[in-house]
Amino acid sequence: MSYSVRGEELVVNEALKTRALPEGSYDYLLEFLKLYRDAVQIVVDRVWGIDEKLSWKKLHRLFYSDLMRLGFRAHHAKEIYINAKSLMNSAKNNGGRKPVLRKLSARIDKYDYKLDLDNMVLTLKLHNGYEARLRLVAPRERVEKFRGWSNYELVVKYDEGVFWVSIYFKRIVKPLEPRTVIAIDLNFDNVTLTVFTLDGKLIRLKKLNTPHRKILTHKIWVERIQRKYPKSWRFIKNVRKAIEKHGERIKNISWDYAHKLGDLVAELALRYHSVIILEDLEKLKENNKKDKEFNKRLGLWFYRRIQFCIEYEAMERNLRVAKIDPRGTSSKCPRCGGRLVEVGYRVLRCRRCGFVGDRDVTATINIYKKYISKHSRCGVSGVALNAPKPDEAPSGMQGNKDEAMTTES
Ligand SMILES: [Zn+2]
Repeated sequence: MSYSVRGEELVVNEALKTRALPEGSYDYLLEFLKLYRDAVQIVVDRVWGIDEKLSWKKLHRLFYSDLMRLGFRAHHAKEIYINAKSLMNSAKNNGGRKPVLRKLSARIDKYDYKLDLDNMVLTLKLHNGYEARLRLVAPRERVEKFRGWSNYELVVKYDEGVFWVSIYFKRIVKPLEPRTVIAIDLNFDNVTLTVFTLDGKLIRLKKLNTPHRKILTHKIWVERIQRKYPKSWRFIKNVRKAIEKHGERIKNISWDYAHKLGDLVAELALRYHSVIILEDLEKLKENNKKDKEFNKRLGLWFYRRIQFCIEYEAMERNLRVAKIDPRGTSSKCPRCGGRLVEVGYRVLRCRRCGFVGDRDVTATINIYKKYISKHSRCGVSGVALNAPKPDEAPSGMQGNKDEAMTTES
């Protein structure tokens, strides 16, 4: 499954792969698959030696009339160029031997098939005006999922006497209009979530622990073993096994946490009708390139995993996610823009205006403000920020400890 953002809309793509049984003779279908494979090979053979990049248009000019003469339909021809082009590209990226096609597989455009999901029948339009009817063999529940989705392309394969079809579906998600904003600040030890109303009131605050330290412990073990057997760890079975075991633990801990957090954030966002704001990790990476400790400290791969899960769960619930540049979110005063200095354990103070706030909560205020200043028509002027000061921290940080999420070891 994959998804992409198109303006305000989210496009979700997913394939349904199923066995297919031909109704009646499948001679024409096999003939079509062979013809299609040979046509792709012809394009590859004729174009392979040419160094220049061949545009779509050029391929069309070179091969269209030949392909028509072989009995293909217009969209078959288009799929044949696309197929040949992507095969050549990946061959060139992988060492550069000219691809030789053996498998029988064809990509077919939506104009060249008819899909009847109610009766589980697929009709393919083949060469020379032939047609093939296939009965799809898939569990009802699997197919039900795609009701209301649109499909745009499929791949038919023939492998050891069996036909397979992968049908590509897409669904356009119109996200809910947000009534509140969830700002998320990811740190080494904790994740801070704050829910703000659109006019800047903090209405919910949650701090959760991260399993970062636990992950780091496993990493340290791996490094220790590798240091002990600097050259040979790869070749001694038990040593390699020990390393793999720690790697496995890191993988489990991090995915488990990412899934739980993604679910929790999305559920909270659903309850409050929120747009979810994350830090743009690509920008974070750029901003921190010079910082040598950065990778060790932040574990960017782990944040990416967490963000992936948050985005995925949000998408499943038709919720919006936005990203902001994290520059300055933990060093600038959210009230006056002055520089913040640390005045106690995780407490920041602005020298210019006297603002005092918890470091993580302050970061989420800044994340919220960055989002609002970009997306709100009325801007942020006059926003009353009720940032919790250290002395009033308990009320500002409602139940942060007992709500803290921990992962089992
Ligand atoms: Zn200030």
